[in-house]
Amino acid sequence: MKIFITREIPDSGISALKEKGYEVVISPHDRVLTREELITTLSGNAYDAVLCLLTDKIDAEIFDVAGKQCKIFANYAVGFDNIDLKAAAERNIVVSNTPDVLTNTVAEHTFALMLAISHRIAEADRFTRAGKYVGWAPMLLLGNDLSEKTVGIVGLGRIGSRVAHHAVKGFDAKIIYYDKKRNLEFEKEFSAQGGSASGGEKEFGALYRPTIEALLKEADYVSIHVPLLDSTRHLINADRLKFMKPTAYLINTSRGAVIDEKALVDALKNKTIRGAAIDVFENEPLLAPGLQELDNIIITPHIASGTEETRQAMSRLAAENIIAVFEGKEAPNKVKI
Ligand code: NAD
Repeated sequence: MKIFITREIPDSGISALKEKGYEVVISPHDRVLTREELITTLSGNAYDAVLCLLTDKIDAEIFDVAGKQCKIFANYAVGFDNIDLKAAAERNIVVSNTPDVLTNTVAEHTFALMLAISHRIAEADRFTRAGKYVGWAPMLLLGNDLSEKTVGIVGLGRIGSRVAHHAVKGFDAKIIYYDKKRNLEFEKEFSAQGGSASGGEKEFGALYRPTIEALLKEADYVSIHVPLLDSTRHLINADRLKFMKPTAYLINTSRGAVIDEKALVDALKNKTIRGAAIDVFENEPLLAPGLQELDNIIITPHIASGTEETRQAMSRLAAENIIAVFEGKEAPNKVKI
């Protein structure tokens, strides 16, 4: 069996594949392959599996050039908006992803962003390095607390739930959420715990907001955790940004195109919201014009899952999916349409 990996990844998964006796070929380029390069590589080599990245656009043409012997495309990410699932299903090709192993890391990064923007960490760092600090001052770089505030989770899946957990347990925050489906178990658990240091009995179900507008109106921090789908593209647009409080922060560690970035730049410029912190952009790696001049945004380059531990775990999990399919079993993380 022969596997192609579209770019160097941490070694745990590569070792697991080699231990099984499979041949592993890794792209020699430390960059995203061009479409032409990917097509040439796949068409000439009869690979039985491809381990691909979120930066690879995988569609019908790519599946066809990969050939009928190719059984699985294992995506090194939990998101799979880079892959045409319908085209894969039509060709009986399995697509797998890497859920769960990155949940904690992405939730941690979300908090790193939330705290960094509301405590003005990057701005304060720039200020201090520029030699502007001349001594303690009562009004210097005042920020906002996260404790006891209302955190609005958009997409209460694996990562969104973990963010909710940390917000309640770590910061006595109040949680509200918007999702296409309600999670009654979560509501029961978190309503029972209060979910707010400001206290008071919460009615069962008081955490759910049936519309995104209702959530945006109330939240002090809005944290986005939906996948990028047709239904979530520009979910946060100019009209919806207007529902947010002028004191609120918007955090995005999901996919860039869930937010209309141009509208975000306008909202930050006009200070209709207080700040934003994003790990993902609409047209990566390009930033929307005007974004990088703003002081009230923190930007990280799509590294929310980027710890050594988690990237190794993702590598292992992607390999496990390939091994399962080669052994005639169902891929444990098969993405279903
Ligand atoms: P998940 O599938 O567990 O959760 C997604 C949630 O969004 C689900 O509860 C689902 O019901 C909800 N949802 C889907 N469509 C919706 C819609 N139209 N309206 C409202 N809610 C909707 O996924 P997860 O593991 O929590 O990951 C979430 C996303 O985070 C991934 O899809 C990925 O794009 C992104 N992500 C980014 C990074 C990064 O490096 N920045 C790392 C990991 C994941």
